[in-house]
Amino acid sequence: MKTPILVGMAVVLLAVAVYISIASLRGNEPVYDDIRVQCTACDHQWDVSARAAAEERAAAGDPRKPLACPRCHKAAGRAMTPCDKCGAWYLPKQDAQAGMYKCPQCGFDPESTTDSGDIIY
Ligand SMILES: [Zn+2]
Ligand SMILES: [Zn+2]
Repeated sequence: MKTPILVGMAVVLLAVAVYISIASLRGNEPVYDDIRVQCTACDHQWDVSARAAAEERAAAGDPRKPLACPRCHKAAGRAMTPCDKCGAWYLPKQDAQAGMYKCPQCGFDPESTTDSGDIIY
């Protein structure tokens, strides 16, 4: 009899879907269409859409170009990283080695769980 198992799985999937939608509605949770940027010159933080950041970088011909800060107008904005565990945004050290991406909030280290070295932002 497989039906009860399928129903159980459907309930779990539904619960996960509801949880994710509730989490994404809460104010301070990261929205994955946006990235948070911190200015290394004045410490100002702001959100920018991933698309806008990509367009600004494409226009400059440099996919890793620091973004222009809306406060001090220096091109010193660096993309922050959302913690996979607690959702806090933080700025990894520029010369971070493996094991130095730890979240300052909860200490979670994404390098210890992912095998990919790709950093998209
Ligand atoms: Zn600034
Ligand atoms: Zn964290």
